[in-house]
Amino acid sequence: MGVLSKLGFTAVTGATGLALWQGYQFQTAQAEEQTAQAVKLQLAETLPSRKGQLQQLQTSTADKPFDVLIIGGGATGAGCALDAISRGLRTVVVEKEDFGAGTSSRSTKLVHGGVRYLEKAVFNADYGQLKLVFEALHERRRLLEHAPFLAHPLPIMTPCYKWWEIPYYWAGLKAYDLVAGSQGLTISRFSTAKESHRQFPTLSETQPDGQTLKGTIVYYDGQFNDSRMNVLLACTAARAGAIALNHAEVTKLLKDDEGKLIGATVHDLLSGKKHNVHAHIVINATGPFADNVRHLSDPNAPKMIMPSAGVHVTLPDYYSPENIGMIIPKTKDGRVVFMLPWLGATIAGTTDSSSEITMTPRPTETEINFILDAIAEYLTVRVRRTDVLSAWSGIRPLAVDPNAKDTASASRDHIVSTDPDGLITVTGGKWTTYRLMAEDAINAAVATKRIPWAGPCGTKGLAVVGTAGWNSTLFTEVAQNYTVPHRPGAIDTRVAKHLADSYGDRAQDITKIAEHRNLGKRLARGYPMLEAEVIYAMESEMCETPEDFIARRTRLAFLDTRACEHALPRIVELMAAERGWWWWRRKAELKRAKKFLQSFTPSNDSRTYSIAIEADAAVARNTRASGSNGTLSLESVGNFQTSKPVKLTIFLPGSKLNEVTVNSPASTVGIAAGKALGLVSAVSALPRLANLLSI
Ligand SMILES: Cc1cc2nc3c(=O)[nH]c(=O)nc-3n(C[C@H](O)[C@H](O)[C@H](O)COP(=O)(O)OP(=O)(O)OC[C@H]3O[C@@H](n4cnc5c(N)ncnc54)[C@H](O)[C@@H]3O)c2cc1C
Repeated sequence: MGVLSKLGFTAVTGATGLALWQGYQFQTAQAEEQTAQAVKLQLAETLPSRKGQLQQLQTSTADKPFDVLIIGGGATGAGCALDAISRGLRTVVVEKEDFGAGTSSRSTKLVHGGVRYLEKAVFNADYGQLKLVFEALHERRRLLEHAPFLAHPLPIMTPCYKWWEIPYYWAGLKAYDLVAGSQGLTISRFSTAKESHRQFPTLSETQPDGQTLKGTIVYYDGQFNDSRMNVLLACTAARAGAIALNHAEVTKLLKDDEGKLIGATVHDLLSGKKHNVHAHIVINATGPFADNVRHLSDPNAPKMIMPSAGVHVTLPDYYSPENIGMIIPKTKDGRVVFMLPWLGATIAGTTDSSSEITMTPRPTETEINFILDAIAEYLTVRVRRTDVLSAWSGIRPLAVDPNAKDTASASRDHIVSTDPDGLITVTGGKWTTYRLMAEDAINAAVATKRIPWAGPCGTKGLAVVGTAGWNSTLFTEVAQNYTVPHRPGAIDTRVAKHLADSYGDRAQDITKIAEHRNLGKRLARGYPMLEAEVIYAMESEMCETPEDFIARRTRLAFLDTRACEHALPRIVELMAAERGWWWWRRKAELKRAKKFLQSFTPSNDSRTYSIAIEADAAVARNTRASGSNGTLSLESVGNFQTSKPVKLTIFLPGSKLNEVTVNSPASTVGIAAGKALGLVSAVSALPRLANLLSI
């Protein structure tokens, strides 16, 4: 792209942003006025028990139905439940696994307006896209205010290695500031190369093509803990009076004689019992699974979901500074990759590839390597495959409106569609706009005139449980108030911060459990989660299985699969003691959780060539330990000598398996494996081999 067209982009962006900004400020003022009218919800001090909720669930009949039954407890479904209860509606939300178990725990964790969408809006002069950015920026602000302990503004750096990139990205990000208007977090700014290094010491000075760093543009978006936000949305709705049940799957839709929906059969997966639940309105908020639910009603309904998988990897904290992220705006194939500090680690992603629809999508070796290769060019840290602590895949519920006359609806951010039988499906969109999606869905429910007693939407100023008594220095109180015999204030700052940032004003409920029940030990070495959190999660956050705990109540599975696996037996033990599980249930839960953890490791990749090599780790380690060739590094792998036979298993396209045994003491692992691959030269295979073998 020529420099002139970049400057053109600058001018067009600025002018369009300015013109539309004026109009938007008016809309903003109107929206703020509505916020001021927000309904105050009465929240129960404690969470209703599952038993109590199940009893209530069975009270509905065809004559006395609930107002709204929401299927799916991701961001959208939990958001719908909160919206419905805020309007005074008798609300039920059921989730077949756990709140946030689907896409909503697997996002990039950004609360954003979408810089990319803004670029598209300007280049295509598309007011619709621009409006979506406006809306998302507005919702970004709200999410940050409604859960301030879970979400915070994060500076993100855009490195510029070519001179023209500076005005190009500067203009784009200034337009982002302009569009945000009063909803903006902090104004974007230019940093010189020297300043940039001070902020981001691991940022590379040069690129492989020899270009040197000219400077960076730093802009702001929000970052959050996605699954905890999801769980707390469900808990807030439950405390406000909604029935919120996880591990409860809708298996059948109920219809009246005229074929109109009147409810659904809910299968409680923990007890095995099935209940018919009647409701005036049924909302399908099942994200990627939306078509499955629509097909329960009409097997011939046209599909509306186009699934696309996105992978992230977790790397050690030293890959990035703790308070600033980086965006790589254009990778080799034109995608955007983020590298962000998150919960004391670094996460990087994402990819975009076609996918089947499953609850446990697995990253592939190719996707992981794509991310590592993308960030490697921007870092001075030696990016190694073996540094990946966890990797996960999530499925985007990209949607087309089945009732739209043209295909342009595919570009819309979220869709609310009502089927002839009355089923309302809400899907697409993004986490950031979950509240708006929920408001639109419940508005569609109200528009059916089946629930005329619904009040106005009350979520515009509604904060989640934990916010009321939270402030940014709460962790100091948590640390000072924690007392164990003989050691007052024995909690360390990292733990205190983790508790305040995860549970807000409820943090001291956990330290009390730790004190009174002697459960102040950490669950995993190097991570701040305490044993007491298991008990709290079961009592106050609807945690029913070890998997719920490691993936959605805490984020251990996403942060470090090995540490998580080590912690699992103790987590199961604590849960078993609390719930009185017999030995067979303990065994089954442990097995299930371990199997689930496997979805955080790569699957065999058969789509493109991959070099997944399983060397005998002990042999590789022994060889290094014997000092035959020092540590295995990019440079030395070619000369890496084996003192014992090493078996390499190589996956080739179409899952064809090649096994190579390198048995001569003088054999060179890199060369032998490279030759066996036959796809790449031995030399180009070496870096990957080095990464794979330095376990
Ligand atoms: C890789 C990736 C990165 C992303 N990054 C961001 C980001 O940084 N910021 C952002 O704003 N957005 C992001 N998104 C988008 C965002 O994560 C999703 O739009 C959002 O989480 C979708 O929520 P959902 O509730 O619609 O779907 P889900 O979270 O998938 O929830 C649907 C739920 O329905 C349940 N369900 C299905 N069938 C049934 C049934 N029969 N009975 C009961 N329950 C059922 C499922 O178990 C599931 O939990 C990202 C998405 C992906 C894939």
